Amino acid sequence: VKQRQQLIDMAVKLKDTQEKLQKVNQDLQFRVNIDGLTGLTNREHFIRLFEERRMESENNVLLIIDADHFKSINDGYGHPVGDRALISISSVFKYLLRKGDLVGRIGGEEFGVLLPNTSEAEGEIIAEMIRYEIENILFEPQKGVSRRMTVSIGLTGVSPYDERAVSMRNADSALFEAKRRGRNQWVRYSADMRD
Ligand code: GH3
Ligand code: MG
Ligand code: MG
Repeated sequence: VKQRQQLIDMAVKLKDTQEKLQKVNQDLQFRVNIDGLTGLTNREHFIRLFEERRMESENNVLLIIDADHFKSINDGYGHPVGDRALISISSVFKYLLRKGDLVGRIGGEEFGVLLPNTSEAEGEIIAEMIRYEIENILFEPQKGVSRRMTVSIGLTGVSPYDERAVSMRNADSALFEAKRRGRNQWVRYSADMRD
């Protein structure tokens, strides 16, 4: 009887340990996939999910979004304020995007958005909403000071047959064109933009 009780005790302990390990594992996995500053999906995980999600529909849209003249925020107010600005920008994605959309922080002040099952025309509307919302953030780098923030956006259609790296390069070319045209705007990729 005593041995039996010992066995039961051991089994209970083992189960407890297993559950704890499972929780630690989940937590680790979360931290590996999520950007610590903004809470968005990080670059590596964004790319993994992008590969999966673009397969689910014939028509998808990729946006690459880069903060304009972000260096001047850091230079003017310091790096912690720059961090706060990035969190503000991220919050726009969180409330604006739809449930099935994918958003990630893919660079320092650069974000990727995959809009699954979305036409390029619809993608343009969403790009414009993002641009508009970010332009209208009430950002206070210091008490009593307000600072406007803007982003430039490159847009491209993505089908399951497109290579992921090519789609990202095309969106990047469109983003470059948006910067060149004066920033605070979105540009849709076209073949003549290849540099
Ligand atoms: P452009 O309009 O051409 O994009 O100008 P820019 O100043 O945004 O571009 P640039 O690439 O020269 O500078 C990006 C800046 O973003 C420089 C870097 O210090 C800042 N940055 C990148 N990651 C972070 C971050 O995590 N926190 C803060 N505070 N700044 C960051
Ligand atoms: Mg920038
Ligand atoms: Mg950049």
